[in-house]
Amino acid sequence: MTLDPSFAVDADGLARALHALSADTARDTPDALPAELPEKGLGETTVIDRLAPVVLGGAARLDDASAFAHMDPPTPWITWAAWLWNARLNQNLLHPAISPVARDIEARVVDWLAPVFAMDGGHMTPGSSIANLTALWAARDIAGVRRVVASPSAHLSIAKSAHILGLAFEAGTVDAQDRLQVDRLGDLSATCLVLTAGTTGTGAVDPLAAAGAAAWTHVDAAWAGPLRLSTRHREVLAGLEAADSVCVSAHKWFFQPKESALVLFRDTAAANRAISFGGAYLAVPNVGIQGSHGAMAVPLLATLLAWGRQGLAARVETCMANAADLAEALRAHPGFDLFAPPETGVVVFRPKSGDVDALARRLAPLTASTTAIDGTPWLRCVAANPNADMAAIKARIFEETTR
Ligand SMILES: *Cc1c(COP(=O)(O)O)cnc(C)c1O
Repeated sequence: MTLDPSFAVDADGLARALHALSADTARDTPDALPAELPEKGLGETTVIDRLAPVVLGGAARLDDASAFAHMDPPTPWITWAAWLWNARLNQNLLHPAISPVARDIEARVVDWLAPVFAMDGGHMTPGSSIANLTALWAARDIAGVRRVVASPSAHLSIAKSAHILGLAFEAGTVDAQDRLQVDRLGDLSATCLVLTAGTTGTGAVDPLAAAGAAAWTHVDAAWAGPLRLSTRHREVLAGLEAADSVCVSAHKWFFQPKESALVLFRDTAAANRAISFGGAYLAVPNVGIQGSHGAMAVPLLATLLAWGRQGLAARVETCMANAADLAEALRAHPGFDLFAPPETGVVVFRPKSGDVDALARRLAPLTASTTAIDGTPWLRCVAANPNADMAAIKARIFEETTR
């Protein structure tokens, strides 16, 4: 029997795809592709050539020197290599028989990272939205919480998770720096308190010292969690040690391809009992929300091995320095308001006079995004790109407004 060559290693075909990654790709739109499902296939090589200008040429380039608008980082090439292996192997962590090594690798990565967040274990999820849902599920079934209290600036996935789980959601109030006012929350029995470490809109860190004050405390560290790896910035997340659960997105400041995140627990054995289902055909219980899921830990392990803690911390510290640099320039500039000193690499600002939307349009899509605080529009830069050219970015921001 001969192997269908579509399933074999085609070194030339793969080299063609690799070359397209580094070449200056022409730009084309999806309209250039066949409008209907082709009756006869175009063949792999043709597809590489036809798709490259659409997929690569038309994409937002998060690695561009001007990219400074969103929480989405560029990815290091070691993750591309590991992803390719993942795609080729197609392991399924739902069943140990078809993920003999991948399950161990996820366990290893969790073993390395959980202690960084003072947790004792957990698992990977396809994002922090799912991680938040998983943590709140554990909170409901272990601590019997009936309501979720969070900052009004908490990520929408918190209210969404409460809704899915049949829990009441209540937003507290925030101070002038967008941090939850925990002393105003009242009775926190039968409550899951969600503290955000780095809100999506302003990067604010809720008072993490309040962790432990409720029946369950979940810290949403989707964005700022990786600061724990930096000896310089670790203190920003002090207090999280008393949380019952923590989530962190690896596809943000761990520079991983989507979809990659972790949900971590202080008592993983108890959590896993609460969030596991066993099916007859499964050799091990299915922990968490996903059924079939892939080996997301492989690119993360590769990155952690390639860079080490210091290398990862250095990239995050570069991002933090870039944010501080921009914030200082905005603070010193007479034409701008800075919302607050950036604690977690999110810089929020607006022109003192003039049109926020017009400036936002000129800096879109890659250099700045927008956010609303108390219904008023602000611009937002997020330091997710260690290769950002700060001189050019500042020149763009300041030049555009003085025009
Ligand atoms: C990004 C983010 C999330 C959601 O994470 P995804 O990985 O996008 O699902 C949750 N909370 C905060 C604070 C975030 O910044």
